[in-house]
Amino acid sequence: MSSQPPNPLPALTNLVGFSERNGCWFAEEIPLTQLAEQFGTPLYIYSKRALETAFAAYERACFTLKGKRRASIFFAVKANSNLAVMNCFKELGAGFDLVSGGELDRALTIGAKPSSLVFAGVGKSATEIRQALTAGVKCLNVESIAELEQINRIARELSCRAPISLRVNPDVDALTHPYISTGLKDNKFGIAYHEVLKTYREAALLAQLDIVGIDCHIGSQITATAPYLDAIDKVLDLVTQLKKEGIILRHLDLGGGLGIDYGPEDPPAITEFTTTILDHVAARGFEDLEILLEPGRSLVGNAGILITRVEYLKHGASKNFCVVDAAMNDLMRPALYGAYHSIVAVQQQAAEPLTYDVVGPVCESGDWLGKDRLLAVKATDLLAILSAGAYGFTMSSNYNSRPRAAEIMVDGDRAFVIRERETVAELWSKERLLPK
Ligand SMILES: *Cc1c(COP(=O)(O)O)cnc(C)c1O
Repeated sequence: MSSQPPNPLPALTNLVGFSERNGCWFAEEIPLTQLAEQFGTPLYIYSKRALETAFAAYERACFTLKGKRRASIFFAVKANSNLAVMNCFKELGAGFDLVSGGELDRALTIGAKPSSLVFAGVGKSATEIRQALTAGVKCLNVESIAELEQINRIARELSCRAPISLRVNPDVDALTHPYISTGLKDNKFGIAYHEVLKTYREAALLAQLDIVGIDCHIGSQITATAPYLDAIDKVLDLVTQLKKEGIILRHLDLGGGLGIDYGPEDPPAITEFTTTILDHVAARGFEDLEILLEPGRSLVGNAGILITRVEYLKHGASKNFCVVDAAMNDLMRPALYGAYHSIVAVQQQAAEPLTYDVVGPVCESGDWLGKDRLLAVKATDLLAILSAGAYGFTMSSNYNSRPRAAEIMVDGDRAFVIRERETVAELWSKERLLPK
């Protein structure tokens, strides 16, 4: 993940759904000050228009002059699993990429069709496999022979067939693509490239399995297209080889991972990137293969923000601190990865601009949201932490007994609570004292 870029900070441009007008930030048609007043802080705010715009950008790439390609979009739920967010994508025609039984339950709760669900994850429990097979998901993305055997056994128990795909670790050479050096050689994920054919042969011997596809996912927050093309080439070579051996695959799942602009980045646009990839597959003569895409971050990351109120300005010996009411438990990415989020003052102020570290109230030095930010603020002002729609709320916790923030979805001039703010009493509602 990116290190902290220097001041002056690059501006985050081209945001959909959030804009500054006459020195005041808005979510669609509503001033952020009004939302803070009404719903309190810290507060996650999503723009419905931004979700729809990002999805439409993927959809556009699914059409050519000749018509609709056999390509579909499965939203990676772990990026933002709020039911209202998932339901927006369902209404738009998305399927879902799931990595736990909990996410599967969420998808079923909003009435997603089982045929629109793929179930992935390196450590699926027997319970989760049973749950996925009983629901009748489109495919289980499998990562080891041991897992294949487990799925086969459970399918036999349930007297059903199990549709499976193998997740390939395409081992794209990170050295040739230095922008994406994280995540590619991560051995926890996928089946080593040279083991894949052997593993398919083993799968073909297991009576309850239907081999339906092949998948890969080469990382996250990737801002270059070339490593995807390399990975696709390697995976397609396997598809060709398998066909020669009589193992005919129906789909190719290319995973997610397209990066977004947090400020310093310059990722390719969704439509352009996706078109390049789909054209690449088609050009190699694989037009019959159905393509699955599993974007998470690029669908929701810039469709959400976190707003927070300034509690205190504190002028230390060598640094100025802007202490706010949001913390690492609300947005973990800075503490976890050193990730950069743009931070803006919600209302332009006459205050003197100073360079601050924006920090939360949690008792950890790692509890910061932004470092060395030039801000003109005073206590009680509001700040907006941008690009917080992906891996924001879903990674939040109750550390320091902090109730999790509320989530709001804005649609034009209307705002809807899509998750109520937690109460402190809810935090210990499942805790019990020892008997006297
Ligand atoms: C996390 C994940 C995704 C989504 O990744 P993004 O970077 O959010 O697009 C897609 N597929 C799999 C298998 C994943 O683990």
